[in-house]
Amino acid sequence: MAAPDWSDLTVYTAARVHTMDPGRPHGSASAGGGPPDRAGAMAVAVAGGRIVSVGTLDSMAPWLRRHAHTIDDRYAGRVLLPGFIDPHTHLRMSGTFMGLNYVGPIDSASPTGVRAGLPDRDAVLNQLRSLAAETGTGPDGRPRPVTTWGYDPASQKGHLDRDMLDAISDTVPLWVCSYAPHIVYANTPMIELIGVDDTTDLHGLGRYPDGRLNGWFIETGAVGLAFKPVAADVYRPGFGREAVDRMGAVARAAGVTTTTDMVWGFESFDGEWADHRAAIDAGTFPLRMLMVPFEPRLRRAYGRDMLDYLAAKRAEGDDRLTTHGVKYVNDGSYPSMTLRLGFPGYLDGDEGLTGEIPWDEIYERMLPFWTAGIQIHSHANGDETVDMTLDVLQRLLHDHPRFDHRFVIEHYCLSTPAQARRLAALGGMASVNAYFVRYRAQMHAEAGFGPDRSEATARLGSLERAGAAFALHSDFNLVVTPLSPLLAAEIAVTRTGADGAVLAPGERISVDRALRAITVDAAHILRRDDRLGSIEAGKLADLTVLADDPYEVDPTRLGSIEVVDTVLGGTPTSQLAR
Ligand SMILES: [Zn+2]
Repeated sequence: MAAPDWSDLTVYTAARVHTMDPGRPHGSASAGGGPPDRAGAMAVAVAGGRIVSVGTLDSMAPWLRRHAHTIDDRYAGRVLLPGFIDPHTHLRMSGTFMGLNYVGPIDSASPTGVRAGLPDRDAVLNQLRSLAAETGTGPDGRPRPVTTWGYDPASQKGHLDRDMLDAISDTVPLWVCSYAPHIVYANTPMIELIGVDDTTDLHGLGRYPDGRLNGWFIETGAVGLAFKPVAADVYRPGFGREAVDRMGAVARAAGVTTTTDMVWGFESFDGEWADHRAAIDAGTFPLRMLMVPFEPRLRRAYGRDMLDYLAAKRAEGDDRLTTHGVKYVNDGSYPSMTLRLGFPGYLDGDEGLTGEIPWDEIYERMLPFWTAGIQIHSHANGDETVDMTLDVLQRLLHDHPRFDHRFVIEHYCLSTPAQARRLAALGGMASVNAYFVRYRAQMHAEAGFGPDRSEATARLGSLERAGAAFALHSDFNLVVTPLSPLLAAEIAVTRTGADGAVLAPGERISVDRALRAITVDAAHILRRDDRLGSIEAGKLADLTVLADDPYEVDPTRLGSIEVVDTVLGGTPTSQLAR
């Protein structure tokens, strides 16, 4: 072990510390009963970016007697937890979309302040009409395309389509990306710019019953094609760095100190990495970031060299920015109602969508990563997709046994208790979006998945009973929900829907379990619980500072607890924020 650097030994005092180390929940045994005096106040000692001791000033006296130190009381009266970990976000991509015209349903942060949501499709069509009237002409003398982001067919009352958009304008190209960018809607002039027609044979092109293109570009392959003619609008010079800075501030305000980019390579592997590196070096990105490569892009960009590329990036990385795992997407999204359902399927007979890799090729595609010991994160929203994913995991284990593989099903929205037990039996884990219980479940009981599955969205209780590890994530902001680990915990504990009714009460979990799912268990599913996720001697000194104690407030108020600050590697990020 390298000799510790004691020059910056600092002790943060607090009203209470929750370590998330079950063996020492508050650190020193003497630290459970509240702070009678300063020596008995709870405290965390940090040096060289790592935790030295947790307990009370009394309990850590053996360290403090031996080394010069500073006692920092800025968090006196506050509550310290390990820094929150959101194990699935898309910060750079979502910060990018925030630069476009907004047509989404909820109020949304933007570079120029909060933009109001639009209640329904008619309001969106009106907005498109005025944008088309104002758009002007480009250097080629033709109308400039109107580029918008944020449409939500479920809450804004139905999909858009080509004929509807042609009625707004049949001369100005109209381009509407859904909030979760799984669908782009285009009118006829835009379809021409994208360069497809009724005879094009491509996975993900929507059609009317008569076979004519209906203006839908669905899922990564087709969506990627639809981005081409508007790339200069979406990807303006410097956009990536701006997006990273913007979203780093949003995540910090929610108490997050570590997250992952779950579609690294969507635009450019090296470009995305460089934007994060630059922001970290400039002190404008107060998070640790794990870059998780999106497999189809990685394979396309690096082919046979893909594992070497990842190894090189790993060697280049450090404890602020590194690469981790590999990501697959094998069905559509929950809010856009494109996931894959088992019997009896969708209310209206929809079938949902698979990802761009055919299901019968997924085993072969995962195999090189599996045998190289790389952790697999596989998106499955619907129960049919969960079944397929478990079948693939079982086959991988059978053919190439592997211990402690931590295969993670991402989202795990609609599932069954039997699937939870099978996931646990196969050593798999789940990273779950719980926000949908509050924001979408009741909507999709009426349109989409029907009442049974909608109510039982995010079966955390079943995962707990089965003994499967799980974490809570936001997917921010590719789904129409906020980024707030404390709100995710509140929803996981209460399971109250939009109208306050408790949905699938047996799937509720305890406050402690929910807080683990945004700290140490989130670190576990990212294979970082040896260094992150709890306040223990030796771990990286990341803390989230709260105004109230989440173990004491009414659980319905968990999401309203004020985040006072975060500490990253021992340094308060309020000192970094400009
Ligand atoms: Zn995602």
